[in-house]
Amino acid sequence: MKAVRIHEHGGPEVLRVDEVPKPVCPEDKVLVQIKAAALNHLDLWIRNGIPGMHLDLPLILGSDGAGVISEIGKSVTGWGVGDRVVIQPNRFCGNCEQCLAGRENYCRKFGIIGETESGVQCEYYIADTANIHPMADHLSFPEAASMQLVFLTAHQMLVKRAGLKRGETVLIYGGTSGVGSAAIQIAKDLGGRVLATVGSEEKRTFALDLGADHVFIHSENRWSRQVKELVGRKGIDVIFEHPGAATWPQSLRLLGRGGRIVTCGATTGPGVNLDLRHLFMKQQSILGSTMSDLDTFRKVMEKIHAKIYKPFVDKIFPLEAVGEAHERIENREQMGKVVLVL
Ligand SMILES: [Zn+2]
Repeated sequence: MKAVRIHEHGGPEVLRVDEVPKPVCPEDKVLVQIKAAALNHLDLWIRNGIPGMHLDLPLILGSDGAGVISEIGKSVTGWGVGDRVVIQPNRFCGNCEQCLAGRENYCRKFGIIGETESGVQCEYYIADTANIHPMADHLSFPEAASMQLVFLTAHQMLVKRAGLKRGETVLIYGGTSGVGSAAIQIAKDLGGRVLATVGSEEKRTFALDLGADHVFIHSENRWSRQVKELVGRKGIDVIFEHPGAATWPQSLRLLGRGGRIVTCGATTGPGVNLDLRHLFMKQQSILGSTMSDLDTFRKVMEKIHAKIYKPFVDKIFPLEAVGEAHERIENREQMGKVVLVL
């Protein structure tokens, strides 16, 4: 079967579409014929190499997939050949104290499909039943494949970590990025007042269409002053962080009393400063978040099936054009998700 693999870290030139053996379905798993697989920023980080993290190479990339069950292990019940499914990327042991308490993303063995183990950008993928869910009938394969990682991440951040409440103001950086687009929809559905930043006028329209109430262009120097004028002395209740170093000083200045910063990334650098006096006097919280638990996966899937969370596919490429797909994300040309089809 065909599979997108890297044998070394580097630019898009290290991406290869290799011929690899079709996997054999174990007794307790299902074999999914992949129809579409979405890209995430994670794919680019893995391709480039993550400092301090060793990955076993060659590695099949891809964390988000959708397809059809083509084989079922003997001991698996509740699933049938031909079922259309989506694959969620969280991996965990299932037996430890955290897993048994429903906090799978706190498991010491926690990993991500396409990072710590083989991914889904290939023709056939062996899936654990904890990683699949029926695909919503109203979605195409590329649409269904595009939603898992970013919605799980954003939902966990806004609901379980930051506890965003109806009527609260939330600032979302990168409103047209995958995770930002998901966060806008989730925050609106929770009843939040949504402020988002984007990189261009064209992207502003996209973020408004997703439901943002106010959109600011972060290349304009005045954007944080414009936010300040809008929210006044009350400040912002929840800040949805992922850029890191470049936005952290503004985040701290804009955060209100009792405000929460929740972060899942450090795209522009991991080192930031903090004035502890503001933190305790204003009773603020800084929260880390990574991926999600299974409860969040189920909740996200319910919202997708109910057509409340909508897909936002930017562009579809054939598997063989994976290099072009990476370049589109690298050049920040995309609005929404880039998807590979098989
Ligand atoms: Zn565990």
